[in-house]
Amino acid sequence: MARSPRKPKLAVWKFASCDGCQLSLLDCEDELLAIAGEIEIANFVEASRAVVKGPYDLSLVEGSITTAHDAARIQHVRKMSKHLVTIGACATAGGIQALRNFKDVKEFLSIVYAKPEYIETLATSTPISAHVRVDFELRGCPINKTQLLEVLTAFLHGRRPNIPDQSVCMECKLKGNVCVMVAHGTPCLGPVTHSGCGALCPSYDRGCYGCFGPKENANTASLGTWLHDLGMPHAEIMRSFQTYNAAAEPFRKESEAHEKQND
Ligand code: SF4
Ligand code: SF4
Repeated sequence: MARSPRKPKLAVWKFASCDGCQLSLLDCEDELLAIAGEIEIANFVEASRAVVKGPYDLSLVEGSITTAHDAARIQHVRKMSKHLVTIGACATAGGIQALRNFKDVKEFLSIVYAKPEYIETLATSTPISAHVRVDFELRGCPINKTQLLEVLTAFLHGRRPNIPDQSVCMECKLKGNVCVMVAHGTPCLGPVTHSGCGALCPSYDRGCYGCFGPKENANTASLGTWLHDLGMPHAEIMRSFQTYNAAAEPFRKESEAHEKQND
């Protein structure tokens, strides 16, 4: 009897994160059964205790690097993985935990922990791409499940994922949303934020707060000026860029530019 071809092996890894992006994979439910028919889910401890040894054909990596142990572990993951895709704001930009990069982490430790001498942590939270080669970055906090399925399908067919690198504004236009900035003067990070959520917040008359991180060539300086002209104080503009993707380069630069200014 002919042996059926070997299925590609998938591994899912967690670093410093909240698990929300891994849950997006579990949230695929019906589609997950179809995926499981095409891929061997070999190492996904959030879904199963059964772990198949590497090497792996595809690794999905959630979370950022915040400890020396994790900095060494990601090297091991890279060596065991033919393709490595990072998923979510933590893995692609350092996540909300990268707010430490703007301050002295030792000061935080002394305030938060009764015995800070037991805590071993790095001074910064950094994306996976700062440590190893990454084949594709999927943005979002959390990621969009449809985009995740596209990444998995593209991997199975040996092509690049079709994830358009456009802004949330484009999604507003496609949905026929009235622009909250133009119509109501509501501050919105949509012009500089990567698409993927289907313009969720503007669809409910709220400004975007940038959870999908910067789009390609994000003109944050122009948006910063625009937000200030709308009456937003510099300190608030700084805070609006310092959220889930605070350490992503265009957001970091713009937040620091406003930190130095007085209204
Ligand atoms: S509401 Fe925000 S995301 Fe939508 S078009 Fe206006 S600025 Fe862009
Ligand atoms: S904050 Fe922006 S990117 Fe995030 S869900 Fe809302 S509109 Fe989408």
